Order: sequence, then structure tokens, then C-alpha cells
Amino acid sequence: MLWKMAEILIIEDEKDIVESLEYNLKKEGYRVSKAYDGLNGLRLAGEKIPSLIVLDLMLPGLDGLEVCRRIKRNPKTAAVPVIMLTAKGSETDKVVGLELGADDYIVKPFSIKELIARIKTILRRYEKPKEKPLAAVKFKDLEIDTDKHEVRAAGKPVELTAKEFQLLLYLAENKERVFSRERLLDTVWGIDVAIETRTVDVHMRRLREKLGKAGRHLVTLRGVGYKFKE
Ligand code: CA
Repeated sequence: MLWKMAEILIIEDEKDIVESLEYNLKKEGYRVSKAYDGLNGLRLAGEKIPSLIVLDLMLPGLDGLEVCRRIKRNPKTAAVPVIMLTAKGSETDKVVGLELGADDYIVKPFSIKELIARIKTILRRYEKPKEKPLAAVKFKDLEIDTDKHEVRAAGKPVELTAKEFQLLLYLAENKERVFSRERLLDTVWGIDVAIETRTVDVHMRRLREKLGKAGRHLVTLRGVGYKFKE
């Protein structure tokens, strides 16, 4: 699952806590980075843009509240969830921390299990819904099914090679945009492959033949390249 590969930044000066947290987070499959003071924590937050930050309140140099304030003020890190570690009984710190944009707090001494449970909950809440690629690109006389890797022209299945399929799909997804042969080579075949640009012409010709009437979608612009016309 996605959230398991998340990177957690620990900002905490108590080495025992950092070590046991790191050990347990790694065991759960998370990546871990750590800082033992506020300034380094802030620097790492900006460099790594972690999935979540565990931030201790009492830190040498820059305290946790100030670190939290700066994390939330920086547009790059503002969206990174923060769990604050607070000392027992410091009610004001909790309130201030949450006002500064911390997502949760946990009171020391805490159980690692509990903290990891909270981390999971927050990451799940933040996990972006996966962008679903278009399952099918459809036109009146042409249908490209990206899941099944199938093409139907006028309702009838068309046998295409992998490259022909990619070429057709790329053009159809970017309909009305003109692409040079070089650009199509780069995109469909890959930059490193030494193929001549007329390879594109050859594939285009075969595609048109196979698509029959639906081949009309593929338009040649002389001296320029190709485009897909609806
Ligand atoms: Ca501390």
C-alpha cells in the first residue's frame, strides 16, 4: 500500500526515543529521516518534504512550536502533517501546537504502538485518491481500451502491435495536437533507440490500413508531423 512507503521525519533530541521510533517505523515499512534539533529538522523538512513529521516540543535551538510555525508557513511544507510530542500536562503547548497547524499531539511518555497507529490514521486521511487513467478513449467509430489493450474500429477488433497501439493512444489522448516525427519517436520508442524518423511514417501507414475508415483520424501535416483529428 502507498502509505507504507511513506517517509517519516523525526525531530527529537532524545536519542532513545528516536532510536526506538526509527526501529519500529522501519519495521512497519516506512522510510525514516531524523534530526536532533529544531534547525536541522526544519532544513530536512524543506529538503525531503516528508509524508509526515513527528515533532518534539522541547528541542535545543529552535523549539518545536517555532519549527511547526515555520513548517506551516513554508508553502513547500505547509501540507505535511505534523504530530507533536508534548510533555505531560503542558496543556497550553498542545493548544498552541494545534493552533499552529499540528495535526495531532501525543503526550510523553507514550507507547510507540499508539504513535504508529496515529501516524497510520493521519497518512490514510492524507493519502491522495489515485488518479485513474482513462480506461478507454472513445470516438464514434474508434475505441481504444487501455485496460484490455484493445482497439475497435467501427465495432470490430483491430490487431495492433504494441508500438502501433502506443502511437495511436498517444495521439488520441492528445487529439488535435500536432507532433513531429522526432517527438513521436522520443515518446513512443524512447530517445535512446536509434531509429529513423521514417519508422514513424511506416507505422502510421500500417495503422491507417488496419483501422480502415477510422484511419481518417490520423492526419498527416506535410513537413510538420501528425495529429489525431476527432
Ligand atoms: Ca525534547
